[in-house]
Amino acid sequence: MKTVRFLGFWICLALGLILGALSQRPPAPAPVSAPATAFSADRAMADIAAIAQRPHPTGSAEIVRVRDYLLGRINELRLEVSVRPGEGFWPYGRDGRALGVAAVQNLVGVLPGRDRTLPAILVMSHYDSVHNSPGAADDASGTAAALEIARALKASGPHARDVIFLFTDAEEAGLLGADAFFSRDPSLSRVGLVVNMEARGDAGRAAMFQTGPGNGALVGLFAREAKGASGNSMASTVYEKMPNDTDFTHAVNKGLPGLNLAFIDNQLAYHTPLARPDHLQRGSLQHMGDQVLPTVLALANAPTLPAKTENAIYSDVLGLFMIRYPPVVGWALLVIAAALVGFSAWRALAGRGATGWEIARGAAGLLLTAASAGLVLHLVGRLLMIDGAQRYYGLLTRFDFLLWGAGLLAAATGLGVATAQARGARRIIPAVVALILGGACSLIGGFDPVGLGLGLAASVLAALALGFRTEVLGAWIGGMVVVLLLAVAAQVLAPGATVMLTWPLLVAALGAALVIGVGGTRDKRVAMALTAVVGLLAILSTAQLAAWGAWTFAGVGLMEPAVLAVFAMLAAPALSPLAHDFAATRWAWRAAGVMALVGAALIANAARLGGEPDRPAITQALHVADLSSGKAWRVADLKRLDGWTRATLPDDGGSEPRQQALAPFWREPVWMSETRVVPVASPQLTVTRAEDRLLIRLIPAPGAEQVTIRLRPSAPLSQPRLNGRPITLAAKPGQWSSLTYHAPDPNGITLSFTIAGSGQVEVAALEHHDGWPALAKAPPPKPADLMAFGMSDKTAVLVRAGLSW
Ligand SMILES: [Zn+2]
Repeated sequence: MKTVRFLGFWICLALGLILGALSQRPPAPAPVSAPATAFSADRAMADIAAIAQRPHPTGSAEIVRVRDYLLGRINELRLEVSVRPGEGFWPYGRDGRALGVAAVQNLVGVLPGRDRTLPAILVMSHYDSVHNSPGAADDASGTAAALEIARALKASGPHARDVIFLFTDAEEAGLLGADAFFSRDPSLSRVGLVVNMEARGDAGRAAMFQTGPGNGALVGLFAREAKGASGNSMASTVYEKMPNDTDFTHAVNKGLPGLNLAFIDNQLAYHTPLARPDHLQRGSLQHMGDQVLPTVLALANAPTLPAKTENAIYSDVLGLFMIRYPPVVGWALLVIAAALVGFSAWRALAGRGATGWEIARGAAGLLLTAASAGLVLHLVGRLLMIDGAQRYYGLLTRFDFLLWGAGLLAAATGLGVATAQARGARRIIPAVVALILGGACSLIGGFDPVGLGLGLAASVLAALALGFRTEVLGAWIGGMVVVLLLAVAAQVLAPGATVMLTWPLLVAALGAALVIGVGGTRDKRVAMALTAVVGLLAILSTAQLAAWGAWTFAGVGLMEPAVLAVFAMLAAPALSPLAHDFAATRWAWRAAGVMALVGAALIANAARLGGEPDRPAITQALHVADLSSGKAWRVADLKRLDGWTRATLPDDGGSEPRQQALAPFWREPVWMSETRVVPVASPQLTVTRAEDRLLIRLIPAPGAEQVTIRLRPSAPLSQPRLNGRPITLAAKPGQWSSLTYHAPDPNGITLSFTIAGSGQVEVAALEHHDGWPALAKAPPPKPADLMAFGMSDKTAVLVRAGLSW
C-alpha cells in the first residue's frame, strides 16, 4: 500500500498525459496505391505541391496560375466546371468605416447525381493564400482534399444527389469569395448542406469544430460515418462566441446546416512561409479526408438530408470514436452522476468517513485549484506580453514548451492544493500570496481586473479550504459536488459544454461510489482491485482531459493560458484520492515545488526571443513610395527590430531607422528609414464632383495586388456607391473611412458619395505591388532564423488628392 501511496498519483498522471498525447496523433497517410474509392493523402499531395509552390493571395499573378491549374484538374475529373466572377464584401472592423472588397473568381465543379432536383451537398475550400505564405495547409490542403474526394466519389458513383465543389477566392481577404457565393450565386438555392475544410496550422488531427444550426441528426451521421471522427460540442459552443471566421460563417448566416473542419497544430506555419508542402503533416490531410469523404458519400446517397433537430452534445473519446446524444440524455447522465455522488456522500457521512465541513472544504478546495491555477497561468499570460504578431509568433516557435510548461504549472498547483488540504496547512500564507499575485497582474500592461478577481477569489477560497485537515473522502466528494453544480448550470445555459463536465464527473463518481460502497474491506485482493479500478479511471479521465486541454490550448491558450486551469480542475476529482495519498508523504511539497519550477523553466524557454533555422521568427520590411511628398521609405511594422530589419531599412542610402507615423496608413509609429527615391508604377487618383456626387476614382498601376483608399471629409457624405453599386461605408466628418480593394479592376474603381452644402475631403490611396522596386537596392538575404510576414517585401505606393466644394 505504501508504494501505491507514493507512486499511484504519478503513474496515473504520467500515463494519462501520455495516452492523451498519443490520442492526438493523426493517422498515417494512405499511399498512392490505396483503393480508388478511398481517400489518399499521398495522392492529394500532388495537388498541394502544384498549388502551394509560392504565395498566391487574391490579386497576385501567382493566383492566376493556381486558378488555371485548378480549372484543369476539375476538367480532368470531368466535373461540370464553371468560373463565377463576382464581387465580395466584408466590413473590416465594427464601426462601419472600413470595408474590404475583392473582385473574385470562385470556381465550381459539380459532380452530378442521379436526381438533380435533390438539394446538393456543397464541399467548400478556398484556393487563395495570404501574402508571403505558400499556403500548403491553409488552404491548399482543403482544396486538394476536395479534388481527392471528388475523384473518390466518382469512382464509387453515381450517387443520389449532386455534390458541388466550391473553391472560393479571397477568403484571407475577409471571406470575400464566400460572400459573393452565399449572397448572390444562382446555384446557392440548390445547396442543402455545406462541408468546409480549413487549416490554422499544418499538423495534428482534423477536428469538426463548428456546425450549422440544429445539428443533432447531422452530428449523428458524422459520428457514424467519419473515420476517427474528432471534435466536441464544447468547442463549437465556445467558437460561436469568438470573433474568428471562416467561409463557413456565410453558410451559417444563411441558416444552412453543415460541418466545418480544421487542423490547428503547429501554428507557426499558419500564414507564414513555413506552410510549404514538405512541411505539412500528411496525416492531418489524411484525417481530414478520412472524416469528410465517408460523410459526404453518406449524405450524397441519403434519400433525405438530416433534418434540423436539437443540437447534440458530442465528443470524440481519445480520438477513437464519437459519442453524441441529445440534451435530455445529458440530463439523465447528470441524474446518474448526482445519484452516485449522493450515495457516496451519504455513506461517507453515515460511516463517519467524512464530515459535512470536510465535504464543504473539499468543494472549496476544488474551486481553489481552479482559481489558483487560473491565477498562475493568467499571470504567465501577462508576463508573456503579447503585443503584436512578432511576439505571438515568437511564442509559437517554441509552443510545445509553453504547453507543457503551463500544464506542469497547473498540475503543480493542483498537487499543492491537495497537499495543503491533506496536511491542514495554514491559510494565511496562501491567501496573502494569492492577493500579491493577483495584484502583480496589474503591474504588467496596466490594470487587470481578471487577474485581480482571480487573486481575490483564490485568497478567499484558500481561507475557506485550508486551516484544517481534510481527509480523502471529504476532498473527493466535495470536489465532485462542485463539478456536479457546474454541470447542471451548463446543462441549463449551454448544453454543448456539458460534455467536458459530465464525463469526468461520472468517471470520478463511479470510482468513489465503488470505493465507498465496498468500504473498509479487509480482503487484500478486493482492496487491490479497487485501487486498480480507481487508477484506471483516473488515467482515462486524465487522458481525455489532457487531449481536450491540449487542443483547447492550441486554439486559445496563447491569448489566455488560464484556460488550462479548467482542465486541471476537471481532472482533479478522479485524481483526488491518489493525490491525497501522495500528499500525506513527506515528498509532497518538494514534488509540487519541483514540478512548478520545471513548468516555469519550460515557459521561460518558450518566452525567449528569436527563432531557429527550422522554426524561424517573423520579420517584415517593405518599400513605401510617397508620391505626394516625393519621398521614399523603408518601413518595418514591428515592435522590435531584428538583425535583418536593422540592416535592411537603411541599406539603400537611407537614414537610421526611427519610429514615426505616416498617416493615414501608419497612424501608430512604425520603424521607418528615409531611403533613395526610385521609380515606381503609379496609380492615378482623382477626386471630382458631378453635381451633388463626389467621385473618387482610382486607376491602379499594372500589377497592383490590392489598393486601400482612405478619405476624411469635413462634412457628412451619404449614399456611398462603389462602381455604381450601393455599399455600406460610413463617412463621418473629421474621421478616416477606408475601402480596401483586392484584385482591383485595371480599368479602375470609382467610389462615390452624395454631398450637401460646402465642404472638403482629403483622400489618400496606398497600392501594393509584389517585390521591391526594380531599381531599389535589393535587401540582404534573410538569415535562416527569420521569415517574411504580412506585407513584407512589397512595394507600397502612396498618392493623395483632395477637393473642396
Ligand atoms: Zn484558411
